[in-house]
Amino acid sequence: MNKYDYLIVGAGLYGAVFAREACKRGKKILVIDKRPHTAGNIYTQNIDNIIVHKYGAHIFHTDNKRVWDYVNNFAEFNNFINSPVANYKGELYALPFNMHTFNKIWGVITPQEAEAKIKSQVKAAGIINPPKNLEEQAISLVGLDIYNKLIKGYTQKQWGRECKDLPAEIIKRIPVRFIFNNNYFNSRYQGVPVKGYADLVNKILDNKNIEIKLNLNYLEHKGELNNLAEKIIYTGQIDEFYDYKFGALEYRSLRFEHENLNINNFQGCAVMNYTDSETPYTRIIEHKWFNFGKGFDGEILDKTIISREYSLKWQKGGEAYYPVNDAKNNNLYNLYKNLAEQNKNIIFGGRLGEYKYYDMDAVINAALERAELEFN
Ligand code: FAD
Repeated sequence: MNKYDYLIVGAGLYGAVFAREACKRGKKILVIDKRPHTAGNIYTQNIDNIIVHKYGAHIFHTDNKRVWDYVNNFAEFNNFINSPVANYKGELYALPFNMHTFNKIWGVITPQEAEAKIKSQVKAAGIINPPKNLEEQAISLVGLDIYNKLIKGYTQKQWGRECKDLPAEIIKRIPVRFIFNNNYFNSRYQGVPVKGYADLVNKILDNKNIEIKLNLNYLEHKGELNNLAEKIIYTGQIDEFYDYKFGALEYRSLRFEHENLNINNFQGCAVMNYTDSETPYTRIIEHKWFNFGKGFDGEILDKTIISREYSLKWQKGGEAYYPVNDAKNNNLYNLYKNLAEQNKNIIFGGRLGEYKYYDMDAVINAALERAELEFN
């Protein structure tokens, strides 16, 4: 008899939701994580009453009522609306591209003027269809000015390559709004948990049938760990699990520089994107503004914490953040997926297990659906 029904590798959202669903069905679970904390990439830390998003800005947004109700069972959410500001060499623009942006960039007043301006720039660029690369694709959608000031530098920093050398498919469409509306996500439900995401995940994991062990790397102890449970849910990298036998998948990595400042207000918003190519970081987060006016009045606190986010090439052993889902990598992933399907005792899930960019709501939904498949 094994001690546990499931060993869950990874205490991020996918692992936590699956664990909760399994223990609802009377299963005994061991959740392990190689990091010293639960919550994976959505981990937050409360520092001096400021909830710091340690692995990048996370805003919960969804149209899925079931998922929204699910998270609201475990946490109270505020009504934060993501309205990032773009900083191009000191010129500030509203995002996503909307009438505020067009007014600032061209001085246009009406939606008709803005549409005409974009159309004339797209026409003047004379790009022959189909666009050969990301640069041509972006210019053929929004024209030269927006591309040069708000897309080019940011995208190059994110991918570590010139837009001319990136495939056109990365940008299929660019959201352009001919209304005055800075709500980036446009989802029906949106917010940030008032007590932070770590608290949310800890509440999901809080059950007598769930045991948690941190600072424990599955790959370094798999002999002993495999004997503990009937089945494994694996939310780490699928290529690393198989010791890169078909080769390493490509990822983008990130580095964060956190800074505590003894001032009240650094940039006046939660997220500022630096869209030129010279500034080495892609964005600065000022954490206190995720909670502005919602049970915490950041205005009167004479402290603030900021994080600069740098985009990096991933190397083995580094933290993998974003899968690079181009055709080459997706084909390679399919080799691993086919191999994984031969072992019915291991389920790969989440952004690294399935090599797929997942927003938080989608990863919760995927874990709920996986649990239904498993238990029904
Ligand atoms: P993870 O959170 O990565 O959890 C996997 C866990 O497995 C990790 O804790 C890891 O330490 C552990 N692990 C891996 N290998 C091993 C091993 N060998 N042994 C033990 N443990 C192991 N989504 C949104 O909806 N809104 C946003 O605003 C948003 N912003 C984002 C910003 C950034 C910078 C990034 C990178 C992502 C963002 N996301 C956002 C997506 C969100 O982070 C993911 O949906 C979510 O974290 C995925 O959860 P997961 O459980 O799949 O993965």
